[in-house]
Amino acid sequence: MTEVHLRNLYKTYPGASAPATHDVSLDIADGEFMVLLGPSGCGKTTLLRMLAGLELPDSGQIVVGGRDVTYLPPKDRNLSMVFQSYAVFPHRRVRDNIAFGLTMRGTDRKEVERKVAWAAELLQLEPYLDRYPAQLSGGQRQRVAVARAIVVDADVLLMDEPLSNLDSLLRLSFRSDLKKLVESIGTTTVYVTHDQSEALSLGDRVAVLRDGAIAQCAAPLHVYDYPADRFVGGFLGSPPMNFLTARPDAADGTRVTADLGRQVVDGPAALRPHHGKTVLLGIRAEAVHTSHSKREGAVRATVKVFEPLGSAVLITADIDGQEIKVQAPNTFRADPGDVVWLTISPQDVRWYDAETELALE
Ligand code: ATP
Repeated sequence: MTEVHLRNLYKTYPGASAPATHDVSLDIADGEFMVLLGPSGCGKTTLLRMLAGLELPDSGQIVVGGRDVTYLPPKDRNLSMVFQSYAVFPHRRVRDNIAFGLTMRGTDRKEVERKVAWAAELLQLEPYLDRYPAQLSGGQRQRVAVARAIVVDADVLLMDEPLSNLDSLLRLSFRSDLKKLVESIGTTTVYVTHDQSEALSLGDRVAVLRDGAIAQCAAPLHVYDYPADRFVGGFLGSPPMNFLTARPDAADGTRVTADLGRQVVDGPAALRPHHGKTVLLGIRAEAVHTSHSKREGAVRATVKVFEPLGSAVLITADIDGQEIKVQAPNTFRADPGDVVWLTISPQDVRWYDAETELALE
């Protein structure tokens, strides 16, 4: 059982004006695939490096498999790490690269061969075992790095943006392979990325980081559907979640009259204390229904930009001075200046405090 517990981790680099991580606590279950997601500089790599033993926290505790490893050197933690740059040895053949960790540990030759064959099969590297890294593509080289990391039976697999040097097609196919691989070996994995689609596709849970702290940690679709704050809603999703200002209705605090061409959207009881104040209405682009004809309860909007995406079309529209992005089926056509009617269903709306930007529900 390899659970990982990060407890109240603080780290400020010498001379830095702000902490790289600030009171980070995270419990990762045995066999869980945990993604650390966030923009550049939010502290993802620092967290991973503290877990690996490559950085020490100023305070806090790291427990792996019931053992306090906070101040142990990397070699005593039984963790494997895959980096963004394919850290493979250029002068060793693929098979010797994969075998490296096992050979270092003095593993029996037969066992080394068995493990290398196993990993090579899982990562489709069998045809390349006798090649040198220079004779491989970037994707194949990264597969070698992953193979090397999984053969050593580490308690935890740590990956720092392993796909980011690959082109977009390769990234997509390697992402699926990686998901299959990690599911089949069942090792607890911590995976760092700033790519939200990678996080959604791979993670059992996603911890979204902002300025060194965890903004939200939950299952990928929960984070996507119920962002804890405006930052998370904006960071996850392409396009980001729309945020429009609205004002809880004076007559009945459970309803909201949004600043949306006088449309009334039913709101939850959580809005009642915000009666008379401005709140934020969060809605995903694909949750809005777009029509050319006026519909009951629909909001009038003017098309500003029309963008075909292939699988859908993206429309940037204006509602009484507020911008909204909506996604419509790829058969939908509109031109800038056209009037469209947008239907926003109450069950698809998330409400946020306008000042704290935190979810109200
Ligand atoms: P990226 O995606 O760009 O790698 P990140 O989310 O992984 O970013 P970190 O690399 O953990 O972020 O950096 C967090 C903060 O700590 C940043 O402000 C960064 O500038 C700072 N930082 C990171 N490493 C060092 C270092 N060795 N010395 C000083 N400051 C550092």
